[in-house]
Order: sequence, then structure tokens, then C-alpha cells
Amino acid sequence: MKRRAFFLKAGLAGLVVGNQGLTSCAPGPKLYGDKNFYINKGYQAIPKLKLSKDRIIKETVGLRPFRESGPRVEKEMLNNKTIVHNYGHGGSGWSLSWGTGNQARNLVKTTDAKKVALLGCGTVGIATATLLQESGYDVTIYAKDVPPNVTSNLATGTWSPSSRVCAEEKATPEIKANWEDACRFSFRRMQMSLGLNDIIDWGDEYTVRKQKPSGSNISGGHEMFHIDGLNPEWKTLAQKDHPFKADYVRRRSNMIFNIPSYLNFHLNNFLIRGGKLVIKDIKSLEDIDALSEKVVVNCMGLGAKAIFNDEELYPISGQLSCLVPQTEINYKLATDGAYFITRKDGIYLGGSGIERSWDTTPNRQLTEKWVDVLSDLMKDMKG
Ligand SMILES: Cc1cc2nc3c(=O)[nH]c(=O)nc-3n(C[C@H](O)[C@H](O)[C@H](O)COP(=O)(O)OP(=O)(O)OC[C@H]3O[C@@H](n4cnc5c(N)ncnc54)[C@H](O)[C@@H]3O)c2cc1C
Repeated sequence: MKRRAFFLKAGLAGLVVGNQGLTSCAPGPKLYGDKNFYINKGYQAIPKLKLSKDRIIKETVGLRPFRESGPRVEKEMLNNKTIVHNYGHGGSGWSLSWGTGNQARNLVKTTDAKKVALLGCGTVGIATATLLQESGYDVTIYAKDVPPNVTSNLATGTWSPSSRVCAEEKATPEIKANWEDACRFSFRRMQMSLGLNDIIDWGDEYTVRKQKPSGSNISGGHEMFHIDGLNPEWKTLAQKDHPFKADYVRRRSNMIFNIPSYLNFHLNNFLIRGGKLVIKDIKSLEDIDALSEKVVVNCMGLGAKAIFNDEELYPISGQLSCLVPQTEINYKLATDGAYFITRKDGIYLGGSGIERSWDTTPNRQLTEKWVDVLSDLMKDMKG
């Protein structure tokens, strides 16, 4: 064989071997261990987080707007105005936004209004405004702050529709039925945003525990309700199928909301389609009464407490600490004492929830504790 032809052939062979090498070199295929779909020759290797204190670029504390009886979606009269409430989503506001937005829209449809004032420009307000607009309403959003200066920007950003959504002892069948309706509507609507500039991604989510936990809350996300078959279920992985030094590892697929681009996308769409946005601080019920629209939808989150004197509404604070983005990481993980989620704008570490705390000062020690917990986990990880 001529020297040039030999090298050409060797080069091509090398490409093929190289490709196989991507999936077959130690430690085994990067495929799931689901025997229905793949032949499992080893554990699934996943990239490690780069963890060091100098990679922390942002720390925030957001206040979840929690009500023990769950989100308030109902209609009331204020003088000659109809108020439709849609607030108090706790740790589930991202997930339920479209669903409770649809319920609020149904209440607006019971009026003869064509123009609607919508208070609030967080994820709940933007989703509700969009749905109303799709039904032909002329919508003006009034808000004192817009993204990125809203609580919705300080969330983890994952599908967690029953995380801190109400108090367990208050979860009546009616609350659960409303939740299920909202949850199913939101889930369907979220799938329509796939592929739109990556505002929503699907990725793997792991629960990693040194030992198998006892009790019902083994996912670590304060999930209270569940709908079988809505999204892929958790699968427990055998030791040989995962790279962690842990006795109990579960995996499922879950949605991740890329918060900055998601809010930007939907708010821009609302404006492009003729929606209006007015920066306005509502200080009292008189300010609402003075609006020109006869129907007002209240999506003010925690801001509704003072204006509507809602004693049931209180904050559950949650800190997030953001590390430099790592494009090769596309999974989410919860372990004892810390969790992280990967978004386009960074790796977010979290795990805190303090009831009735209005303090939004980040706690550096907490960040460093999370970095340490996750560093130990990554150090022991194979691959
Ligand atoms: C740490 C953390 C993690 C979370 N993770 C998730 C998650 O992974 N998945 C999930 O589904 N949910 C999550 N949540 C919950 C979610 O973020 C909230 O439920 C959601 O952001 C509430 O949205 P909202 O639009 O009701 O409120 P906000 O985002 O607070 O928006 C309220 C709007 O009302 C306006 N407003 C308030 N008061 C007034 C006033 N007086 N006058 C005029 N305008 C006013 C504000 O300016 C703002 O525009 C998390 C929350 C936190 C804090």
C-alpha cells in the first residue's frame, strides 16, 4: 500500500475507533442503564462540577410567597372593580404559573370586560398576562419592578409544582384538585416552550444519599403532591450503574427553566403583541380603585400581603449561590445538605428555607458549606 493511501486509511479507521472510544472507553457507556433501550456495560459517567470559592459569582436570597391554604385564585369585588387574585405560590410559582394563570383567566371570562389591568410582572404575572392576551383581552401590566428585579429571578428554576405549595394539614381534596388542574395545564404549556431559544431544557436530576433515607420525603424537595405519569418517574440506580460513592441514588428527567431568557422571551412576546407595561408602585387599595380598567388581576406575589391585608401570606426565604457557568454540565443533583441546578446562566447551589424570614442578606457561610458538601461528593465520584 502506498504511504499516503495507508495514512488516509489509518486516519479514517482512527475516526471510527475514536467515535467508539467516546462511548466505550472507561468507565463504560454514557448511556442510561435502562435495559429496555440500551445494553448497559458500565456506570454512566457524568462530568464533575468545578467547585472552589473563587468561582462564586453571585449570592441571592429570595422570598417565596407562601400561604398555608395554597395559592389564592379567586374573585372579589372592590367598589365597582372586580379583583381576580392569583398569588401566593410558595416554592411552586414557576411551575404552576400557567395553570393558575388559566384559572384566573377563567374568572376574568365571567366578567364582560375587554380591558384588564394586571398587577405584577413576575413569572405568574407574565404567564397570566400572556394567556389573557391570547384570549383577546387588552392587557396592561402595572408593576413596581420588572425582571431581573423580581422574586421570580431569584428562584432555582425547576419543575417543582408542589414544593412548599401549601401546609400539609390544610391540603383539602379541593385544594389538591385545583392544584392538579393547574399542574396539568402548566405541564402541557411548558412543553410548548421547548426549542424556543432554550428557555426550557429537560435534563437529568439525581438524588444522592450516603444511606437510604427513611420517611416519605426522599426527594428532598418538599414535594407534597404527585401526579402519576405526568413526567418521568424516579428510578433507583444500582451501585454499578452510577458514579457516586453512595448507597442510595435515584434519577429522573426534569425540566429546567433558564430564568433570565424565559422571562425576557415571554415579556417581549407580550409587548410585541400589543401588551402594555407601566411601572407603578401600588401603595393602597385607592391606587387600584383609581385604575381605568374595571377588572384587575392581582399577581403581586408577596406584595399582595400589605395591599390586601392577607394575614395568611408569609415569606419562606431561600438562598442561592451561583458559580461560573459550565456548559458541559447538564444535570441537577440533591444530596444531604446541598443541591445544585445547572442553568445557562450559572450553576446554582441552594438548599435553604426559613419560614417567616424577611431577611434578604446572603449568608456566606452557607454558600461555603454547600461548596464543601458538593466538593466532597465530587471528590469521591468516579469518572
Ligand atoms: C430560592 C427560591 C427557589 C425557588 N425555586 C423554584 C423552583 O425551582 N420552581 C418553582 O416553580 N418555583 C420556585 N420558587 C418559587 C417562585 O420563585 C415563586 O413562587 C414565584 O417567583 C412567585 O412569582 P410571582 O410572579 O407571584 O411573584 P414575583 O416574582 O415576586 O412578582 C411579583 C410582581 O408584583 C410586583 N409588585 C409587588 N408589590 C407591588 C406593589 N405594591 N405595586 C406594584 N407592583 C408590585 C413586583 O414588582 C413584581 O413585578 C423559588 C423561590 C425561591 C425564593
